[in-house]
Amino acid sequence: MLRYVLLGILLILIARAFWRVIDGVIEAAGGRPARVSSRRTPQAVRLVRDPVCGTHVAPSSALQVVADGRAHHFCSETCRSEFLKQQRA
Ligand SMILES: [Zn+2]
Repeated sequence: MLRYVLLGILLILIARAFWRVIDGVIEAAGGRPARVSSRRTPQAVRLVRDPVCGTHVAPSSALQVVADGRAHHFCSETCRSEFLKQQRA
């Protein structure tokens, strides 16, 4: 019985060491382990600047306009129409 307990502990230790190595390899390759990025989701969201008022917005929830082959993001409809007005001028 004790032998199986020790064997189980040994397997857990090996598995943990193994995952630490895998994480190291992923980080070395330039990526980020999924476990780390999911832990800090709020800061991990890349923000873009509203060119009209300067507010930083999350692209997923912002209003978007594609002009000159570039996507611009806006905090509100007001900023978006202001930008479009400037584009036309
Ligand atoms: Zn704005």
